[in-house]
Amino acid sequence: MAETYEIKGEGGVVLEVLGPDDQPQGEVTEPWAAPEPTEAPETPEAPGTPEPTTAPAPPEPYVEPTATVNIATRASWGARYPDGDLTLTGPAVEVWVHHSVTAQLSPDASVAAEAEQMRALESVGQTRFGTGISYNVVVFPSGRAYQGVSWNRRGTHTGGRNSTSRSICFAGNYETNNPTAAQISTAAAIYGAGKGRWWTQGAPLGGHRDVSQTACPGRNLYARLDDIRAGEGSTPPSPGEPGGLTVDGFWGSSTTRRLQQELGTTVDGVVSSQSIAWRDVNPGLTTGWRWVTDAQGSRVIAALQRKIGMPADQRDGKIGPQTIRALQRYLGTPVDGVISRESRAVMALQRRLNQGRV
Ligand SMILES: [Zn+2]
Repeated sequence: MAETYEIKGEGGVVLEVLGPDDQPQGEVTEPWAAPEPTEAPETPEAPGTPEPTTAPAPPEPYVEPTATVNIATRASWGARYPDGDLTLTGPAVEVWVHHSVTAQLSPDASVAAEAEQMRALESVGQTRFGTGISYNVVVFPSGRAYQGVSWNRRGTHTGGRNSTSRSICFAGNYETNNPTAAQISTAAAIYGAGKGRWWTQGAPLGGHRDVSQTACPGRNLYARLDDIRAGEGSTPPSPGEPGGLTVDGFWGSSTTRRLQQELGTTVDGVVSSQSIAWRDVNPGLTTGWRWVTDAQGSRVIAALQRKIGMPADQRDGKIGPQTIRALQRYLGTPVDGVISRESRAVMALQRRLNQGRV
């Protein structure tokens, strides 16, 4: 194994370890399944651009999500160094979740603060390995995601497996902090969106610690990997299958699937095209929610609005304070118009779904 970089915590625990692969060229498994990533084109960079001697150009403004999964480009955060060390010609066959053990930003952190953290992470990888930022994508507590080393370029995230895997990194330390619902939701969306695209359809997702001597991605995030796996792309249960929902008050893909079964809409665990304005104020809405700027609404929410007796002219398929209040009244829980963590309304909904009703 080539030289690695370790970040140690209390008692010498290795919280994260970064390193290159031994082999110079990654194994090619199969051609890119296409389509290529659809992010906006990045600012062209000359190959092997040397370190800048002047200050980098100001970053581009962050563009709020408008598609199923939005990942801000390298140019948006002001990437200054090489984009990995070589081009990989096949999709990944494994996906590893990491944590960065760098600053723990607030869910309310600004885009500028997150971009600064991206450049700090890039500096670490550049200093240690000379190949720019180590991870493929970095997800912040706000739920925003930024492209690190491009999907088809090799990074230094999972030593020995960089050529055949890709990485989703949570910014911060999740041995000691909890990931936010927005982070889990974003990571689930990325994992789902990458199937058959950045990685093979069946590529498993695991924690870095499954394959290296490290605590990464931290016990609190490791405990949530099932929620990331449960995002878009996993197999829905057959209609009529017993509920078995965990009554935890978090409305993620599993709850949506059961709701879709009961309401007779397409069963995919996804609530499509919801207004991003309602994401952060409703932390109990977790995986499978698709937050966009130009919301069109979803069939499952429209069906729910009908079921709970909202008038026809209010059935727009979008979650929001009005719909949440109507749902809370319908379920007999406190009416405050928001879905909090461990929401009583969601628990009531989950109990009903487990009884085979809405
Ligand atoms: Zn790691």
